[in-house]
Amino acid sequence: MDQYFVIGSPIVQSKSPQMHNAAFRALGIDANFSATEVLPSELADFVEIFRKENGKGLCVTIPHKTAIIPLLDEVSEEALAIDAVNVVVHCDGKLVGYNTDGAGFVSGLRTLNPEQIWADANVLLIGAGGAAKGIVHALKVNAIPRITVANRTMEKARQLSAQVVTLQEAETGLAQYDIIVNTTSIGMGDQAGEVPIKLSNLKAGAIVADIIYNPLQTKFLEEAKKCGAITQNGLPMFIRQGALAFEHWTGIMPDTMLMEQACLESIRRL
Ligand code: NAP
Repeated sequence: MDQYFVIGSPIVQSKSPQMHNAAFRALGIDANFSATEVLPSELADFVEIFRKENGKGLCVTIPHKTAIIPLLDEVSEEALAIDAVNVVVHCDGKLVGYNTDGAGFVSGLRTLNPEQIWADANVLLIGAGGAAKGIVHALKVNAIPRITVANRTMEKARQLSAQVVTLQEAETGLAQYDIIVNTTSIGMGDQAGEVPIKLSNLKAGAIVADIIYNPLQTKFLEEAKKCGAITQNGLPMFIRQGALAFEHWTGIMPDTMLMEQACLESIRRL
């Protein structure tokens, strides 16, 4: 049986096993996907064992997306540009890293209203961590013309975009943005019930996305809905980054509806 893993710390919250096992089962592929807690000090050893035991593929999450790069044999141009790997394929004795986070986000966003999104969108991205890096790259690849990044640590925002604002400036100038995306961790775990910025100045008809998928509705999305925004949670991104990972491993694009169902069932069971 082929072995796949998602590695990170913490990892218990991950829905990758449910999503990928459902897809393997549906396609009759003899494989098992499991979550493994790997501390930063254990990463090199884990990768070595994975290689020796001929594991087939990995999903990589916080805090290993950048740290894993020197441990791989090849890394895609895109993942190098983003400086983060979220998918590893073990093929022909080589470990090859890819990044599917940004493409997953853009693919999810496209399901909302493609015309409005791509025409002349002015995008505000809140946060400048690993996920934001992939999303900015994918938005640029998809020719989104105007991207502003707001972040608590301004230096990190400047590394992502020439156009930066403070969180306070984002709040006051919110009316100029068509698409607002929360990529911070504010809204989950210890920070559930908090919002990264207030939405009182939101433009009518704006799209507000949150890449958090657990909870399915963050306080930020709740507030956005109250203001009449079109909203999207982090599930479409999560499913699509996972489907692209699955395609890298197997050459097959899996059924995203089925993967979504498996995630939703697991989230709702909690
Ligand atoms: P990360 O690299 O640790 O970045 C965290 C970001 O949140 C940084 O911009 C950080 O600001 C900001 N932040 C955290 N606490 C804050 C606070 N109290 N006040 C203001 N800003 C704060 O994490 P990541 O990998 O980018 O992930 C971010 C979120 O995206 C997580 O919730 C993760 O679960 C989610 N995610 C979802 C998907 C998906 O498929 N849907 C994929 C990847 C990640 P500073 O720079 O100032 O520290």
